[in-house]
Amino acid sequence: MCTGTPEQGALMACRTTPNAAITLSDDAGFSAKFKADPAGRFVVGFSRDAAPHMTLRACANGGACAALPLSIVAHDYKIERINGLPPGKVSTFSAAQLVHIRKSSARKKAAFAIKADTDAYLAGFAKPVQNARISGFYGSQRVLNGKPKRPHMGMDFAVPKGTPIAAPAGGVVTLADPDLYFEGGTVFLDHGQGLVSVFMHMSSLDVHDGQRVKKGDILGKVGATGRATGPHLHWSLKWKNRYYVNPDSALSLDVSPLR
Ligand SMILES: [Zn+2]
Repeated sequence: MCTGTPEQGALMACRTTPNAAITLSDDAGFSAKFKADPAGRFVVGFSRDAAPHMTLRACANGGACAALPLSIVAHDYKIERINGLPPGKVSTFSAAQLVHIRKSSARKKAAFAIKADTDAYLAGFAKPVQNARISGFYGSQRVLNGKPKRPHMGMDFAVPKGTPIAAPAGGVVTLADPDLYFEGGTVFLDHGQGLVSVFMHMSSLDVHDGQRVKKGDILGKVGATGRATGPHLHWSLKWKNRYYVNPDSALSLDVSPLR
C-alpha cells in the first residue's frame, strides 16, 4: 500500500509488514535494497531518469514476497538548447581552490553517510521559504552547442538575501558548513527514511552539526555564497544516498497513512 504517484523524480510513502525487505528494481540492472521500519513503513524515491517499468518487491521478515509492477510516469523536464555560442573557456582551479574543493567533497561524502535516527518526515513537508518565485526546476538541463550539461538537481527559490530558511520538515542536521566551495553556506538535514535535504548558498547558518530541529525551525538565511550568480535558495532532496529526487514531490507527498 503506497501513496504518491510512481513518476520520475517522485516519492511514494508505503506501508507493509514490519521490517520487510524491500527491493526497487528495473530491467536494466538497477536495484536498491532496503528495509521497512519496525512499523512496516518505507519511502521510495525514483530517479530523474527512472526507467518506464520498475518493480517494487516486499518480502515479509522470514516470509512471503509480493511484487508490485510500476509504470513510471515520465516527467517533462525543462530543457534549454542554446546554439552558436563561442567555444567555452576551460575552467581551471588554483592549487588553493583544489584543496578547498577536495575538503568540501570529503565533508559532503562523510555527512551523506550518516543515517540519523529520526521519523520527522512523518509530519510532512512544507516550503522552506514562502511566496517565492521558482527560478530553477528539478531535472532542468541546458544543452550548449549540442553538449548536455549536468542537470539541475534541486529547486531554486528566488528570494532576497537574508530571507530566513525554515526547515521543511524536522530532522537532524548532518552537515552545517559556512563555506563549501561550490555550495557556499550549506546545511544537510536528515528527515529519516534516507531523505536528506540540502540547502545551499546560505549567507548565515543558525544550526550546527548533530542538532535536532523541528519543522519550521530557522536553519539560517538565504545568500549567494559559493558559486551562485545571485541570491536564491537551492533546495535538493537526496534519497538513501543514491540520487536526488524532486523536492516538489515531498511537498505533495501524503504521509498520513504512515502515521
Ligand atoms: Zn539550484
